[in-house]
Amino acid sequence: VAAVGEERLIRKIRQWLGAACPPAPEGIGDDCAVLPVASRLITVDPVGFGRHFDATVPPGWVGAKLLKRNLSDIAAMGGAPTSAVVALTLAPAVSVAWLERFYRGLAAAARKYQVSVVGGDVSEGGAAVFAASLTLLGNPAGKRVVTRSGARIGDYLYVTGVLGGSLASGHHYKFTPRLAEGAWFAGRREVMAMMDLSDGLAKDVHALEPKSAAASLFAAALPARKGASTRAALVDGEDYELLVAVDPGADLWRFESAFARRFPAVRLTRIGQMMRRGRPAPGALVLRDVQGYEHLS
Ligand SMILES: [Mg+2]
Repeated sequence: VAAVGEERLIRKIRQWLGAACPPAPEGIGDDCAVLPVASRLITVDPVGFGRHFDATVPPGWVGAKLLKRNLSDIAAMGGAPTSAVVALTLAPAVSVAWLERFYRGLAAAARKYQVSVVGGDVSEGGAAVFAASLTLLGNPAGKRVVTRSGARIGDYLYVTGVLGGSLASGHHYKFTPRLAEGAWFAGRREVMAMMDLSDGLAKDVHALEPKSAAASLFAAALPARKGASTRAALVDGEDYELLVAVDPGADLWRFESAFARRFPAVRLTRIGQMMRRGRPAPGALVLRDVQGYEHLS
């Protein structure tokens, strides 16, 4: 990219984004982008070379992954995405052809999930080969957002899809963010709390635990990906599935069958229950023995 120059590079980026980037001032080209609607949800997540992808991942998939990681967070609140801005740090040696494929992958995903890429920044990084950060805006898809903090002792825990083996299977960039499922959960009164799984169930589940409660998970119930062990289902990161806490007073059969009718191709599994701390359910896994993926270590 060093030979191209910043102005030409930004023109190219607008061209690669195509319909995913509206004309200024709603899109790239002014000092700020002007959003057509206010947005109540905001999240940011990066992808970095060597950390979230390597040379085996095609550049178009890297661009899609950058957006989809953020979409997973919007899904986890019961939200629908609106707009995004992208900040890149590039080594001068990154090829324009690679960058084009990255942006075209990002643009295809943006069109698919109806996100406008409205701005961004490109800066030169010395040692960093390629790092990108995307900030995504969104709004509640329905009447409410679902937070992590609504779970109570007694709530059942459910997870969508299958867990573990994300890196080996390519799921970490091929996944479909659970936007429709998240919006559906937000519309169900029996759903008390929700989050997406990015660092591994064993670590992430603690974020849903109310004060003086601990999650009891059952090994036999865990929906492990084909070829993945129970341990992998607990500790591998990048599942991008939804974990929800459900009111134990609800009609669980109705809840489960309504989900199955709406999403016949998506598994929904009851994997455990919130219990009083120090009083795990008989036969539950001891989570302090297994650790999810730890950042910054
Ligand atoms: Mg998240």
